[in-house]
Amino acid sequence: MTDSTKSTLPDKTIRELREAVTPERVILDPAVLKEVSEDLTEVARGRAEVVVRPRTVEEVRRVLQTASRSKVAVVPMVANTNVGGLAIPDHGGIVLDLREMNRILEVNEQDMYMVVEPGVTWQDVSDRLGRDHPSFRIGYSLAPPDSSILCNCLLDGLTTLGLKHGPTGDWINGIEAVLADGQVIKTGAMAMGGTWCSDSPAPDLTGLFINMQGTTGIVTKMAIQIFPKPAFGSRGFILAYEIEAATRLIRRLVREDICDDIGGLTWPIVKMLFGEQRPTYRDPDEPIFFVYSDISAPREETYRAKMSALEAVLAEERGTGAHLVGPLDIWDIVPIEPGFRKLAEFPTRLDFLLDRGGLTWIGTYGPISRWEEGLQKGIEVMERRGFPPLVVTRPMRGGHFGVLRFISTFDKEDADEVTAVRDLNVELSDVSIDLGFIPYKTPPWLIRRHKDRIDPGFLALLKKIRSVMDPDGILNPGKWSP
Ligand SMILES: Cc1cc2nc3c(=O)[nH]c(=O)nc-3n(C[C@H](O)[C@H](O)[C@H](O)COP(=O)(O)OP(=O)(O)OC[C@H]3O[C@@H](n4cnc5c(N)ncnc54)[C@H](O)[C@@H]3O)c2cc1C
Repeated sequence: MTDSTKSTLPDKTIRELREAVTPERVILDPAVLKEVSEDLTEVARGRAEVVVRPRTVEEVRRVLQTASRSKVAVVPMVANTNVGGLAIPDHGGIVLDLREMNRILEVNEQDMYMVVEPGVTWQDVSDRLGRDHPSFRIGYSLAPPDSSILCNCLLDGLTTLGLKHGPTGDWINGIEAVLADGQVIKTGAMAMGGTWCSDSPAPDLTGLFINMQGTTGIVTKMAIQIFPKPAFGSRGFILAYEIEAATRLIRRLVREDICDDIGGLTWPIVKMLFGEQRPTYRDPDEPIFFVYSDISAPREETYRAKMSALEAVLAEERGTGAHLVGPLDIWDIVPIEPGFRKLAEFPTRLDFLLDRGGLTWIGTYGPISRWEEGLQKGIEVMERRGFPPLVVTRPMRGGHFGVLRFISTFDKEDADEVTAVRDLNVELSDVSIDLGFIPYKTPPWLIRRHKDRIDPGFLALLKKIRSVMDPDGILNPGKWSP
Protein backbone atom coordinates (compact mmCIF):
# COMPACT_ATOMS: atom_id res chain seq x y z
CA MET A 1 0.00 0.00 0.00
CA THR A 2 1.23 3.52 -0.78
CA ASP A 3 2.11 5.73 2.17
CA SER A 4 -0.57 8.40 2.16
CA THR A 5 0.94 10.39 4.98
CA LYS A 6 4.21 11.75 3.57
CA SER A 7 4.98 14.56 1.19
CA THR A 8 7.78 14.09 -1.31
CA LEU A 9 7.31 17.50 -2.90
CA PRO A 10 10.45 19.67 -3.15
CA ASP A 11 10.87 22.27 -0.38
CA LYS A 12 10.81 24.97 -3.06
CA THR A 13 7.30 23.95 -4.15
CA ILE A 14 6.04 23.96 -0.56
CA ARG A 15 7.63 27.40 -0.05
CA GLU A 16 5.92 28.77 -3.17
CA LEU A 17 2.58 27.32 -2.10
CA ARG A 18 2.97 29.07 1.28
CA GLU A 19 3.57 32.32 -0.56
CA ALA A 20 0.62 31.64 -2.88
CA VAL A 21 -1.86 31.38 0.01
CA THR A 22 -0.61 31.73 3.62
CA PRO A 23 1.62 29.30 5.55
CA GLU A 24 -1.20 28.08 7.81
CA ARG A 25 -3.32 27.16 4.77
CA VAL A 26 -0.65 24.80 3.42
CA ILE A 27 -1.22 21.62 5.38
CA LEU A 28 1.21 18.73 5.75
CA ASP A 29 -0.43 17.09 8.78
CA PRO A 30 -0.36 13.32 8.06
CA ALA A 31 -3.88 12.84 9.48
CA VAL A 32 -5.29 15.41 7.04
CA LEU A 33 -3.32 13.96 4.11
CA LYS A 34 -4.65 10.50 4.94
CA GLU A 35 -8.23 11.72 5.18
CA VAL A 36 -8.23 13.33 1.72
CA SER A 37 -6.46 10.38 0.10
CA GLU A 38 -9.58 8.20 0.06
CA ASP A 39 -13.35 8.54 -0.14
CA LEU A 40 -16.48 6.58 0.75
CA THR A 41 -16.10 4.10 -2.09
CA GLU A 42 -14.17 0.90 -2.77
CA VAL A 43 -11.78 2.83 -5.07
CA ALA A 44 -8.16 2.38 -3.90
CA ARG A 45 -6.63 5.06 -1.68
CA GLY A 46 -4.36 7.66 -3.34
CA ARG A 47 -1.56 9.77 -1.89
CA ALA A 48 -2.08 13.46 -1.13
CA GLU A 49 1.26 15.19 -0.51
CA VAL A 50 -0.09 18.54 0.61
CA VAL A 51 -3.48 20.16 1.15
CA VAL A 52 -3.84 23.80 0.13
CA ARG A 53 -6.85 25.90 1.13
CA PRO A 54 -7.22 29.00 -1.06
CA ARG A 55 -9.76 31.73 -0.27
CA THR A 56 -9.67 33.81 -3.46
CA VAL A 57 -9.44 33.41 -7.21
CA GLU A 58 -6.05 35.08 -7.12
CA GLU A 59 -4.81 32.46 -4.64
CA VAL A 60 -6.11 29.63 -6.86
CA ARG A 61 -4.30 31.23 -9.79
CA ARG A 62 -1.01 31.39 -7.86
CA VAL A 63 -1.31 27.77 -6.70
CA LEU A 64 -1.89 26.59 -10.29
CA GLN A 65 1.07 28.61 -11.55
CA THR A 66 3.28 26.97 -8.93
CA ALA A 67 1.90 23.52 -9.77
CA SER A 68 2.41 24.11 -13.51
CA ARG A 69 6.02 25.18 -12.99
CA SER A 70 6.74 22.16 -10.76
CA LYS A 71 4.57 19.75 -12.83
CA VAL A 72 2.72 18.68 -9.70
CA ALA A 73 -0.81 17.23 -9.82
CA VAL A 74 -3.70 19.36 -8.48
CA VAL A 75 -6.92 17.66 -7.36
CA PRO A 76 -9.81 20.01 -6.57
CA MET A 77 -12.08 18.90 -3.74
CA VAL A 78 -14.86 20.24 -1.55
CA ALA A 79 -16.64 17.61 0.58
CA ASN A 80 -15.31 14.58 -1.37
CA THR A 81 -18.72 12.90 -1.35
CA ASN A 82 -18.95 12.27 -5.10
CA VAL A 83 -19.22 8.46 -4.63
CA GLY A 84 -16.91 7.65 -7.53
CA GLY A 85 -13.31 8.12 -6.38
CA LEU A 86 -13.32 11.33 -8.44
CA ALA A 87 -11.26 13.44 -6.05
CA ILE A 88 -8.81 10.75 -4.94
CA PRO A 89 -5.26 12.02 -5.59
CA ASP A 90 -4.06 8.85 -7.29
CA HIS A 91 -1.04 10.62 -8.82
CA GLY A 92 0.07 12.33 -5.60
CA GLY A 93 0.47 16.12 -5.48
CA ILE A 94 -1.76 18.88 -4.14
CA VAL A 95 -5.32 18.50 -2.92
CA LEU A 96 -6.91 21.89 -3.49
CA ASP A 97 -9.48 22.07 -0.70
CA LEU A 98 -11.98 24.74 -1.77
CA ARG A 99 -14.22 24.72 1.30
CA GLU A 100 -13.07 28.17 2.41
CA MET A 101 -14.23 29.74 -0.87
CA ASN A 102 -17.79 29.67 0.37
CA ARG A 103 -19.52 32.93 -0.46
CA ILE A 104 -22.88 33.32 -2.15
CA LEU A 105 -21.92 36.36 -4.18
CA GLU A 106 -25.31 37.31 -5.58
CA VAL A 107 -28.92 36.21 -5.59
CA ASN A 108 -30.81 37.85 -8.42
CA GLU A 109 -34.57 37.38 -8.05
CA GLN A 110 -35.44 39.32 -11.20
CA ASP A 111 -33.30 37.18 -13.49
CA MET A 112 -33.61 34.07 -11.28
CA TYR A 113 -30.02 33.04 -10.66
CA MET A 114 -27.43 33.02 -7.88
CA VAL A 115 -23.65 33.20 -8.12
CA VAL A 116 -21.73 30.89 -5.81
CA GLU A 117 -18.18 29.88 -5.00
CA PRO A 118 -17.18 26.19 -4.92
CA GLY A 119 -17.41 25.80 -1.13
CA VAL A 120 -21.06 26.89 -0.93
CA THR A 121 -23.05 23.94 0.38
CA TRP A 122 -26.62 22.76 -0.13
CA GLN A 123 -27.29 23.87 3.45
CA ASP A 124 -25.87 27.36 2.78
CA VAL A 125 -28.19 27.77 -0.20
CA SER A 126 -31.19 26.45 1.68
CA ASP A 127 -30.50 28.84 4.59
CA ARG A 128 -29.99 31.85 2.31
CA LEU A 129 -33.06 31.29 0.14
CA GLY A 130 -35.19 30.45 3.18
CA ARG A 131 -34.09 33.62 4.99
CA ASP A 132 -33.82 36.24 2.26
CA HIS A 133 -35.62 34.88 -0.82
CA PRO A 134 -38.52 32.75 0.44
CA SER A 135 -40.38 32.85 -2.86
CA PHE A 136 -37.52 30.99 -4.62
CA ARG A 137 -36.30 27.42 -4.53
CA ILE A 138 -33.75 25.05 -6.01
CA GLY A 139 -33.94 21.30 -6.40
CA TYR A 140 -32.05 19.27 -3.77
CA SER A 141 -29.88 16.24 -4.24
CA LEU A 142 -29.84 13.65 -1.46
CA ALA A 143 -26.15 14.46 -0.93
CA PRO A 144 -25.00 15.43 2.58
CA PRO A 145 -25.99 19.04 3.43
CA ASP A 146 -22.31 20.07 3.74
CA SER A 147 -21.39 19.03 0.19
CA SER A 148 -21.04 21.50 -2.66
CA ILE A 149 -23.84 22.59 -4.99
CA LEU A 150 -21.28 23.87 -7.53
CA CYS A 151 -19.61 20.43 -7.64
CA ASN A 152 -22.99 18.81 -8.09
CA CYS A 153 -23.70 21.05 -11.09
CA LEU A 154 -20.27 20.19 -12.56
CA LEU A 155 -21.18 16.51 -12.10
CA ASP A 156 -24.57 16.98 -13.81
CA GLY A 157 -26.37 15.68 -10.73
CA LEU A 158 -29.92 14.64 -10.04
CA THR A 159 -32.21 16.55 -7.71
CA THR A 160 -35.83 16.99 -6.69
CA LEU A 161 -36.28 19.20 -9.77
CA GLY A 162 -34.49 16.88 -12.22
CA LEU A 163 -37.71 15.92 -13.98
CA LYS A 164 -38.87 19.52 -14.35
CA HIS A 165 -35.57 21.31 -14.97
CA GLY A 166 -33.10 18.58 -15.98
CA PRO A 167 -29.81 17.48 -14.43
CA THR A 168 -27.94 20.23 -12.60
CA GLY A 169 -25.49 20.79 -15.47
CA ASP A 170 -28.52 22.31 -17.26
CA TRP A 171 -28.91 24.96 -14.55
CA ILE A 172 -25.51 26.59 -15.12
CA ASN A 173 -25.67 30.07 -16.65
CA GLY A 174 -21.90 30.48 -16.83
CA ILE A 175 -18.72 30.05 -14.84
CA GLU A 176 -15.43 31.65 -13.92
CA ALA A 177 -12.54 29.19 -13.97
CA VAL A 178 -8.78 29.13 -13.58
CA LEU A 179 -6.97 27.07 -16.21
CA ALA A 180 -3.85 24.98 -15.55
CA ASP A 181 -1.51 27.82 -16.52
CA GLY A 182 -3.26 30.27 -14.20
CA GLN A 183 -5.36 32.03 -16.85
CA VAL A 184 -8.77 33.15 -15.55
CA ILE A 185 -11.67 32.74 -17.99
CA LYS A 186 -15.44 33.28 -18.00
CA THR A 187 -18.14 31.49 -20.00
CA GLY A 188 -21.76 32.22 -20.89
CA ALA A 189 -23.27 35.61 -21.60
CA MET A 190 -20.96 37.05 -18.92
CA ALA A 191 -18.00 36.28 -21.22
CA MET A 192 -19.46 38.70 -23.77
CA GLY A 193 -19.82 41.56 -21.33
CA GLY A 194 -23.36 40.63 -20.34
CA THR A 195 -24.63 39.39 -17.00
CA TRP A 196 -24.85 35.96 -15.38
CA CYS A 197 -28.44 35.56 -16.62
CA SER A 198 -27.76 32.99 -19.33
CA ASP A 199 -25.32 30.60 -20.96
CA SER A 200 -26.80 31.55 -24.35
CA PRO A 201 -26.04 32.86 -26.95
CA ALA A 202 -22.29 32.39 -26.40
CA PRO A 203 -20.64 29.20 -27.74
CA ASP A 204 -21.14 26.63 -25.00
CA LEU A 205 -17.68 26.59 -23.46
CA THR A 206 -19.24 25.88 -20.05
CA GLY A 207 -19.61 22.35 -21.38
CA LEU A 208 -15.82 21.99 -21.33
CA PHE A 209 -16.09 21.81 -17.52
CA ILE A 210 -19.22 19.67 -17.04
CA ASN A 211 -18.65 16.01 -16.19
CA MET A 212 -14.90 16.63 -16.62
CA GLN A 213 -14.15 15.95 -12.93
CA GLY A 214 -11.81 18.92 -12.55
CA THR A 215 -9.53 17.90 -15.41
CA THR A 216 -9.98 21.07 -17.48
CA GLY A 217 -9.85 23.85 -14.88
CA ILE A 218 -10.76 24.94 -11.37
CA VAL A 219 -14.18 26.56 -11.33
CA THR A 220 -14.13 29.50 -8.93
CA LYS A 221 -17.60 30.99 -9.58
CA MET A 222 -20.79 29.60 -11.00
CA ALA A 223 -24.10 31.21 -11.88
CA ILE A 224 -26.87 28.72 -11.07
CA GLN A 225 -30.56 29.09 -11.89
CA ILE A 226 -33.07 29.43 -9.07
CA PHE A 227 -36.77 28.80 -9.57
CA PRO A 228 -40.01 30.36 -8.31
CA LYS A 229 -41.30 28.53 -5.24
CA PRO A 230 -44.94 27.50 -5.64
CA ALA A 231 -47.20 28.31 -2.70
CA PHE A 232 -48.87 24.88 -2.69
CA GLY A 233 -47.20 21.51 -2.78
CA SER A 234 -46.93 18.06 -1.26
CA ARG A 235 -44.91 14.87 -1.40
CA GLY A 236 -46.88 11.63 -1.61
CA PHE A 237 -45.95 7.95 -1.57
CA ILE A 238 -47.52 5.12 -3.52
CA LEU A 239 -46.74 1.49 -2.78
CA ALA A 240 -46.39 -0.73 -5.86
CA TYR A 241 -46.43 -4.52 -5.72
CA GLU A 242 -45.08 -5.21 -9.22
CA ILE A 243 -42.11 -3.57 -10.99
CA GLU A 244 -44.19 -2.94 -14.12
CA ALA A 245 -46.97 -1.29 -12.09
CA ALA A 246 -44.42 1.18 -10.69
CA THR A 247 -42.65 1.98 -13.97
CA ARG A 248 -45.89 2.31 -15.95
CA LEU A 249 -47.29 4.67 -13.31
CA ILE A 250 -44.13 6.80 -13.39
CA ARG A 251 -44.21 7.02 -17.19
CA ARG A 252 -47.86 8.06 -17.19
CA LEU A 253 -47.31 10.75 -14.56
CA VAL A 254 -44.41 12.09 -16.63
CA ARG A 255 -46.42 12.22 -19.86
CA GLU A 256 -49.34 13.94 -18.15
CA ASP A 257 -46.97 16.55 -16.73
CA ILE A 258 -48.39 16.29 -13.22
CA CYS A 259 -45.28 16.17 -11.02
CA ASP A 260 -42.11 18.19 -10.33
CA ASP A 261 -40.32 15.00 -9.39
CA ILE A 262 -41.12 11.30 -9.30
CA GLY A 263 -38.93 8.49 -8.11
CA GLY A 264 -39.22 4.79 -7.59
CA LEU A 265 -37.24 3.23 -4.74
CA THR A 266 -37.07 -0.49 -3.99
CA TRP A 267 -38.57 -1.55 -0.67
CA PRO A 268 -35.26 -2.54 1.00
CA ILE A 269 -34.36 1.17 0.99
CA VAL A 270 -37.42 1.79 3.18
CA LYS A 271 -36.38 -1.09 5.44
CA MET A 272 -33.00 0.56 5.89
CA LEU A 273 -34.76 3.80 6.74
CA PHE A 274 -36.55 1.78 9.44
CA GLY A 275 -33.15 0.66 10.80
CA GLU A 276 -32.53 -2.72 9.17
CA GLN A 277 -28.84 -3.04 8.13
CA ARG A 278 -28.80 -5.58 5.29
CA PRO A 279 -32.38 -6.23 4.21
CA THR A 280 -31.82 -9.16 1.84
CA TYR A 281 -34.95 -11.08 2.81
CA ARG A 282 -38.20 -10.15 1.04
CA ASP A 283 -41.51 -11.03 2.62
CA PRO A 284 -43.94 -11.94 -0.20
CA ASP A 285 -46.50 -9.51 1.27
CA GLU A 286 -44.15 -6.54 1.01
CA PRO A 287 -44.38 -4.05 -1.83
CA ILE A 288 -41.55 -4.12 -4.39
CA PHE A 289 -41.37 -0.40 -4.90
CA PHE A 290 -42.44 2.79 -3.34
CA VAL A 291 -42.99 5.66 -5.70
CA TYR A 292 -42.84 9.22 -4.44
CA SER A 293 -44.34 12.14 -6.28
CA ASP A 294 -43.82 15.85 -5.67
CA ILE A 295 -46.70 17.96 -6.85
CA SER A 296 -46.82 21.74 -6.63
CA ALA A 297 -48.52 24.78 -8.10
CA PRO A 298 -48.61 28.52 -7.50
CA ARG A 299 -52.42 28.49 -7.09
CA GLU A 300 -54.56 26.26 -4.92
CA GLU A 301 -56.97 25.39 -7.74
CA THR A 302 -54.10 24.29 -10.01
CA TYR A 303 -52.62 22.21 -7.19
CA ARG A 304 -55.97 20.53 -6.52
CA ALA A 305 -56.41 19.83 -10.23
CA LYS A 306 -53.01 18.12 -10.33
CA MET A 307 -53.86 16.03 -7.25
CA SER A 308 -57.15 14.99 -8.91
CA ALA A 309 -55.22 14.06 -12.05
CA LEU A 310 -52.91 11.88 -9.93
CA GLU A 311 -55.92 10.12 -8.36
CA ALA A 312 -57.44 9.62 -11.81
CA VAL A 313 -54.24 8.05 -13.18
CA LEU A 314 -54.04 5.77 -10.14
CA ALA A 315 -57.69 4.71 -10.55
CA GLU A 316 -57.13 3.93 -14.24
CA GLU A 317 -54.02 1.92 -13.48
CA ARG A 318 -55.81 -0.02 -10.75
CA GLY A 319 -58.54 -0.66 -13.31
CA THR A 320 -55.98 -2.54 -15.41
CA GLY A 321 -55.10 -4.75 -12.43
CA ALA A 322 -52.08 -2.86 -11.05
CA HIS A 323 -51.68 -3.29 -7.30
CA LEU A 324 -51.02 0.25 -6.08
CA VAL A 325 -51.69 1.70 -2.61
CA GLY A 326 -51.76 5.42 -1.88
CA PRO A 327 -51.02 8.25 -2.26
CA LEU A 328 -49.97 8.68 1.37
CA ASP A 329 -48.91 12.20 2.31
CA ILE A 330 -45.41 12.28 3.78
CA TRP A 331 -46.54 14.38 6.75
CA ASP A 332 -49.11 11.70 7.64
CA ILE A 333 -46.34 9.06 7.62
CA VAL A 334 -43.75 11.00 9.68
CA PRO A 335 -45.68 10.80 13.03
CA ILE A 336 -45.97 6.99 12.58
CA GLU A 337 -42.41 6.48 11.32
CA PRO A 338 -40.15 9.45 12.23
CA GLY A 339 -37.37 8.03 9.99
CA PHE A 340 -39.37 9.32 7.02
CA ARG A 341 -38.58 12.90 8.05
CA LYS A 342 -35.28 12.30 6.20
CA LEU A 343 -37.27 12.18 2.97
CA ALA A 344 -39.52 15.10 3.90
CA GLU A 345 -37.16 18.02 4.31
CA PHE A 346 -34.10 18.94 2.27
CA PRO A 347 -31.16 19.05 2.34
CA THR A 348 -30.98 15.78 4.22
CA ARG A 349 -28.36 13.43 5.63
CA LEU A 350 -29.12 9.81 4.78
CA ASP A 351 -27.21 8.30 7.72
CA PHE A 352 -28.49 4.81 6.97
CA LEU A 353 -26.40 4.85 3.78
CA LEU A 354 -23.28 6.11 5.56
CA ASP A 355 -23.35 4.08 8.80
CA ARG A 356 -21.15 1.20 7.57
CA GLY A 357 -18.35 3.50 6.42
CA GLY A 358 -18.47 2.43 2.77
CA LEU A 359 -20.97 3.64 0.18
CA THR A 360 -20.83 3.00 -3.53
CA TRP A 361 -23.10 2.73 -6.53
CA ILE A 362 -23.45 2.19 -10.20
CA GLY A 363 -25.63 5.20 -10.95
CA THR A 364 -26.64 5.65 -14.57
CA TYR A 365 -28.60 7.80 -16.99
CA GLY A 366 -30.31 5.93 -19.82
CA PRO A 367 -33.45 5.13 -21.79
CA ILE A 368 -36.55 4.81 -19.59
CA SER A 369 -37.95 2.42 -22.21
CA ARG A 370 -35.49 -0.16 -20.82
CA TRP A 371 -36.10 0.41 -17.10
CA GLU A 372 -37.90 -2.91 -16.54
CA GLU A 373 -35.11 -4.94 -18.11
CA GLY A 374 -32.47 -2.96 -16.24
CA LEU A 375 -34.28 -3.39 -12.94
CA GLN A 376 -34.81 -7.12 -13.39
CA LYS A 377 -31.22 -7.79 -14.41
CA GLY A 378 -29.65 -5.50 -11.81
CA ILE A 379 -31.79 -6.85 -8.95
CA GLU A 380 -30.91 -10.40 -10.01
CA VAL A 381 -27.17 -9.55 -9.91
CA MET A 382 -27.41 -7.91 -6.47
CA GLU A 383 -29.43 -10.75 -4.94
CA ARG A 384 -27.22 -13.46 -6.45
CA ARG A 385 -24.16 -11.77 -4.93
CA GLY A 386 -25.82 -11.41 -1.51
CA PHE A 387 -26.42 -7.64 -1.61
CA PRO A 388 -29.75 -6.04 -0.70
CA PRO A 389 -31.26 -4.72 -3.95
CA LEU A 390 -31.20 -0.99 -3.20
CA VAL A 391 -32.31 0.54 -6.48
CA VAL A 392 -33.53 3.99 -7.47
CA THR A 393 -35.28 5.02 -10.69
CA ARG A 394 -36.13 8.57 -11.61
CA PRO A 395 -37.26 10.24 -14.83
CA MET A 396 -35.18 13.28 -15.81
CA ARG A 397 -35.58 16.34 -18.02
CA GLY A 398 -39.27 15.89 -18.86
CA GLY A 399 -38.84 12.12 -19.11
CA HIS A 400 -36.37 12.18 -22.00
CA PHE A 401 -34.08 9.92 -20.02
CA GLY A 402 -34.02 8.30 -16.62
CA VAL A 403 -31.92 7.26 -13.67
CA LEU A 404 -31.20 3.64 -12.79
CA ARG A 405 -28.98 3.45 -9.71
CA PHE A 406 -27.80 0.37 -7.81
CA ILE A 407 -26.58 1.33 -4.32
CA SER A 408 -24.44 -0.71 -1.92
CA THR A 409 -23.19 -0.03 1.58
CA PHE A 410 -20.23 -1.94 2.94
CA ASP A 411 -17.66 -2.13 5.72
CA LYS A 412 -14.56 -0.34 4.43
CA GLU A 413 -12.36 -2.15 6.94
CA ASP A 414 -13.41 -5.59 5.75
CA ALA A 415 -11.22 -6.61 2.79
CA ASP A 416 -13.62 -9.38 1.72
CA GLU A 417 -16.54 -6.97 1.59
CA VAL A 418 -14.49 -4.47 -0.40
CA THR A 419 -13.62 -7.16 -2.95
CA ALA A 420 -17.25 -8.33 -3.09
CA VAL A 421 -18.56 -4.82 -3.73
CA ARG A 422 -15.88 -4.21 -6.36
CA ASP A 423 -16.91 -7.38 -8.24
CA LEU A 424 -20.58 -6.45 -7.87
CA ASN A 425 -20.02 -3.01 -9.42
CA VAL A 426 -18.08 -4.49 -12.32
CA GLU A 427 -20.96 -6.80 -13.19
CA LEU A 428 -23.57 -4.06 -12.68
CA SER A 429 -21.63 -1.73 -14.96
CA ASP A 430 -21.55 -4.42 -17.68
CA VAL A 431 -25.29 -5.05 -17.37
CA SER A 432 -26.11 -1.33 -17.37
CA ILE A 433 -23.97 -0.34 -20.33
CA ASP A 434 -25.21 -3.32 -22.36
CA LEU A 435 -28.69 -1.80 -21.99
CA GLY A 436 -27.55 1.74 -22.84
CA PHE A 437 -27.46 3.08 -19.26
CA ILE A 438 -24.31 5.19 -18.94
CA PRO A 439 -22.73 5.51 -15.49
CA TYR A 440 -22.62 9.11 -14.24
CA LYS A 441 -19.94 10.54 -11.91
CA THR A 442 -17.98 7.95 -13.82
CA PRO A 443 -15.22 6.28 -11.76
CA PRO A 444 -11.77 5.97 -13.39
CA TRP A 445 -11.83 2.14 -13.26
CA LEU A 446 -15.10 2.09 -15.16
CA ILE A 447 -13.82 4.28 -17.98
CA ARG A 448 -10.77 2.03 -18.33
CA ARG A 449 -12.88 -1.14 -18.30
CA HIS A 450 -15.29 0.09 -20.98
CA LYS A 451 -12.86 2.15 -23.08
CA ASP A 452 -13.29 -0.08 -26.14
CA ARG A 453 -16.98 0.79 -26.27
CA ILE A 454 -16.30 4.55 -26.41
CA ASP A 455 -16.28 6.14 -29.86
CA PRO A 456 -12.59 6.54 -30.87
CA GLY A 457 -13.31 9.95 -32.41
CA PHE A 458 -14.81 11.13 -29.12
CA LEU A 459 -11.74 9.96 -27.22
CA ALA A 460 -9.35 11.60 -29.70
CA LEU A 461 -11.19 14.93 -29.48
CA LEU A 462 -11.27 14.75 -25.68
CA LYS A 463 -7.53 14.14 -25.62
CA LYS A 464 -6.89 17.10 -27.94
CA ILE A 465 -9.05 19.44 -25.87
CA ARG A 466 -7.32 18.41 -22.66
CA SER A 467 -3.87 18.78 -24.15
CA VAL A 468 -4.76 22.37 -25.05
CA MET A 469 -6.33 23.21 -21.70
CA ASP A 470 -3.81 21.37 -19.54
CA PRO A 471 -0.68 20.58 -21.60
CA ASP A 472 1.25 19.03 -18.68
CA GLY A 473 -1.67 16.96 -17.46
CA ILE A 474 -1.55 18.33 -13.92
CA LEU A 475 -5.31 18.67 -13.35
CA ASN A 476 -6.78 15.67 -11.54
CA PRO A 477 -4.70 13.19 -13.58
CA GLY A 478 -6.14 9.72 -14.00
CA LYS A 479 -9.73 10.93 -14.23
CA TRP A 480 -11.59 10.48 -17.51
CA SER A 481 -8.40 8.89 -18.84
CA PRO A 482 -8.87 5.62 -20.68
C1 LIG B 1 -25.51 9.81 0.78
C2 LIG B 1 -25.23 10.52 -0.53
C3 LIG B 1 -26.30 10.84 -1.36
C4 LIG B 1 -26.06 11.49 -2.57
N1 LIG B 1 -27.14 11.81 -3.33
C5 LIG B 1 -26.94 12.45 -4.50
C6 LIG B 1 -28.08 12.80 -5.29
O1 LIG B 1 -29.23 12.58 -4.93
N2 LIG B 1 -27.83 13.43 -6.46
C7 LIG B 1 -26.57 13.72 -6.88
O2 LIG B 1 -26.43 14.29 -7.94
N3 LIG B 1 -25.49 13.41 -6.13
C8 LIG B 1 -25.64 12.79 -4.96
N4 LIG B 1 -24.55 12.47 -4.19
C9 LIG B 1 -23.18 12.73 -4.73
C10 LIG B 1 -22.48 14.01 -4.20
O3 LIG B 1 -22.55 14.04 -2.85
C11 LIG B 1 -22.99 15.30 -4.75
O4 LIG B 1 -22.85 15.32 -6.13
C12 LIG B 1 -22.27 16.49 -4.09
O5 LIG B 1 -23.01 17.68 -4.33
C13 LIG B 1 -20.84 16.66 -4.59
O6 LIG B 1 -20.20 17.68 -3.82
P1 LIG B 1 -18.81 17.45 -3.12
O7 LIG B 1 -18.54 18.69 -2.34
O8 LIG B 1 -18.79 16.20 -2.34
O9 LIG B 1 -17.84 17.31 -4.39
P2 LIG B 1 -16.39 16.60 -4.43
O10 LIG B 1 -16.58 15.15 -4.27
O11 LIG B 1 -15.46 17.26 -3.49
O12 LIG B 1 -15.95 16.94 -5.93
C14 LIG B 1 -16.64 16.37 -7.00
C15 LIG B 1 -15.80 16.43 -8.29
O13 LIG B 1 -15.61 17.78 -8.70
C16 LIG B 1 -14.21 18.10 -8.77
N5 LIG B 1 -14.14 19.48 -8.30
C17 LIG B 1 -14.29 19.92 -7.03
N6 LIG B 1 -14.25 21.26 -7.01
C18 LIG B 1 -14.06 21.66 -8.28
C19 LIG B 1 -13.92 22.94 -8.89
N7 LIG B 1 -14.01 24.06 -8.18
N8 LIG B 1 -13.71 23.01 -10.21
C20 LIG B 1 -13.62 21.88 -10.96
N9 LIG B 1 -13.76 20.65 -10.43
C21 LIG B 1 -13.99 20.54 -9.11
C22 LIG B 1 -13.54 17.08 -7.89
O14 LIG B 1 -12.20 16.85 -8.25
C23 LIG B 1 -14.39 15.85 -8.16
O15 LIG B 1 -14.00 15.26 -9.37
C24 LIG B 1 -24.74 11.83 -2.96
C25 LIG B 1 -23.68 11.50 -2.12
C26 LIG B 1 -23.91 10.86 -0.92
C27 LIG B 1 -22.75 10.54 -0.04
